[in-house]
Amino acid sequence: MINRLAIIGVGLIGGSLALGLKKAGQVNEVVAYARKSETRQRALELGIADRIEGSLAETVKGADMVLLSVPMGAMADVFSELAPLVTDTMMITDAGSAKAQVVEAARAALGDKVSQFVPGHPIAGTEKSGPSAAFAELYQDHRVVLTPLAETSQKALHQVKLMWQTVGAEVFEMAVEHHDVVLAATSHLPHLLAFNLVGMLAQGDDVDEVLRYAAGGFKDFSRIASSDPVMWRDICLSNSGAILDLLQQYQRDMGLLEQAIKQKDGDYLIKVFERAKVARDTRFNDPDLIDNSEV
Ligand code: NAP
Repeated sequence: MINRLAIIGVGLIGGSLALGLKKAGQVNEVVAYARKSETRQRALELGIADRIEGSLAETVKGADMVLLSVPMGAMADVFSELAPLVTDTMMITDAGSAKAQVVEAARAALGDKVSQFVPGHPIAGTEKSGPSAAFAELYQDHRVVLTPLAETSQKALHQVKLMWQTVGAEVFEMAVEHHDVVLAATSHLPHLLAFNLVGMLAQGDDVDEVLRYAAGGFKDFSRIASSDPVMWRDICLSNSGAILDLLQQYQRDMGLLEQAIKQKDGDYLIKVFERAKVARDTRFNDPDLIDNSEV
């Protein structure tokens, strides 16, 4: 049971955690922080937060659990401001979509108190953002990856794990670097591709004509291009190494496809398409393997 949960950045991710814990009756009080008055107002109206504070100090005062759910680009500043406010009994976690940069910022700001920090990433979400997008069931039957550090205390790890399990998530542990490589492949690169394709088509003169004949597959693929641009800018910049490696590989493979089409090399196209179809029909379609999260 969490007595006081402090949420720094009350949007889809932080708001859904608060609503899930409240629904489960496992939190006494939620105190939240956001910069804009409309975000604060919505979080109160929707019952996500019991109290909204305008300063970080007031938000985390007396909290036993603190969640950082701000965009990746804001994490370092939040850690610096949070560091002098951390008490011995406070557990800290985050929801950032890439982990190495968050861990670096946490280590630099928290010093020894980094043992109270458990880096985390819920593999769940939608393309919507803000407190209005939050819902209590977001984490039900979804995976949450925790990337504990050598310094992380067992107590902190246990409490954070329990918190995510309370809202229905299955919790896994992974090394920081491994997390960032895996998520670059399954989430970050697909978002880049969707943003680029939709943006490219939207610039054409005949965009309405193109969209009129778009089939379901295009709608499925393009959905993630509705995601928040600031959040995705930050993710791309903070996990740049892993993303650039994959992007180079992707561009190399696209070059081979381009060449095959130019040379009318149907055998090469069949080989690539068949390999992908077999993978998609088997391993990529295995519910035990693939999380059915929306983002
Ligand atoms: P969101 O809905 O946009 O919420 C972000 C919250 O942070 C808002 O309350 C926003 O309110 C506040 N905020 C924005 N910039 C800030 C800043 N510079 N300082 C302090 N507060 C700031 O975003 P989200 O989808 O919940 O994502 C939050 C985190 O979870 C991100 O790090 C993201 O990478 C990660 N994540 C997202 C998903 C997903 O599918 N959405 C999935 C897994 C993990 P104000 O603008 O009013 O301050």
